[in-house]
Amino acid sequence: MPFWSKSVWLNALDQSVRQTPGTLVTLILSALAFFALAVAVKGLSGALKSARAAGEETRINAILSALDQVTVGPFLTVMIATLTVTLRTHGLHLAPLPLWAKIGGVPTLLATVFVGDFIGYWRHRTQHSKWLWPAHAIHHSDTALTWFSLERMHPIDRVGSMLDTILLGALGFPDWALIGNVLIRHYYGYFIHADVPWTFGKVGWVMNSPAMHRWHHTRDIDGSGSNFATVFSVFDRLFGTYYQPGPCRAPLGVREYMGKGVIGQYLYPFQVWLGMAPSQRPAAQFTLLSETLTSAAKDLNLEKPAPAAREMI
Ligand SMILES: [Zn+2]
Ligand SMILES: [Zn+2]
Repeated sequence: MPFWSKSVWLNALDQSVRQTPGTLVTLILSALAFFALAVAVKGLSGALKSARAAGEETRINAILSALDQVTVGPFLTVMIATLTVTLRTHGLHLAPLPLWAKIGGVPTLLATVFVGDFIGYWRHRTQHSKWLWPAHAIHHSDTALTWFSLERMHPIDRVGSMLDTILLGALGFPDWALIGNVLIRHYYGYFIHADVPWTFGKVGWVMNSPAMHRWHHTRDIDGSGSNFATVFSVFDRLFGTYYQPGPCRAPLGVREYMGKGVIGQYLYPFQVWLGMAPSQRPAAQFTLLSETLTSAAKDLNLEKPAPAAREMI
């Protein structure tokens, strides 16, 4: 049955709706796990204070996550399945499937996640380019980064992420490893958004840490421009975008004003591309932000991020 058939889409939507209770349970368990982590790091009162401070941003993330479940999610499921099966059917994959059986399960999964993270690194850098940034800015607009901030994605950003899996399929990785890669990178994605100051010390030279990704979300005059990988920091080190001076306490968010409402966030990139974007924040606020950032850097005894690592590409 062709993917443009109405019944294919209705079936995907139906499955997605049926999976909603399971998705909710997974989200609640994740929330409990990350709250326990926050309590371990900050104590109960600190964790509650942070949760309250992130309340409004969490509400927006929850609405976007729920909308994704019944709109973009089913679309991506159909597209990924269709394109991967098409590639397989026409022999359009680089590595033969029997190769992975010889290598074994764990090495295959590790290879898939490593290559997936390499692809994700370049996809993410592309999302910071001038033309794609307006859609990606939605993810960066969360000013109180928590594990749940990963759920704040514009549909166009989500379509971009779909390409990671399609490319991995084209390279010949087996279907089970494609699913494993999505799950591992998704949950590791939750982890690096968590509100904990961990830098991982020397392990951070290889693995991405929550502090690294927090620096990626900092609000500065050029937008964020470092630490693009999800799991392995080696890609940022290799391609000159690694930035890790210590725990990040700088202000987060973006300069662009897109309103706090969900509809404003959905419409924002289209408004930019059509030249109808809402006006920017008043200059006085930028001065204040800049001062706040400078003062935070002084508190931490940090130099301002190196320009080359902060620039948008
Ligand atoms: Zn980004
Ligand atoms: Zn992020």
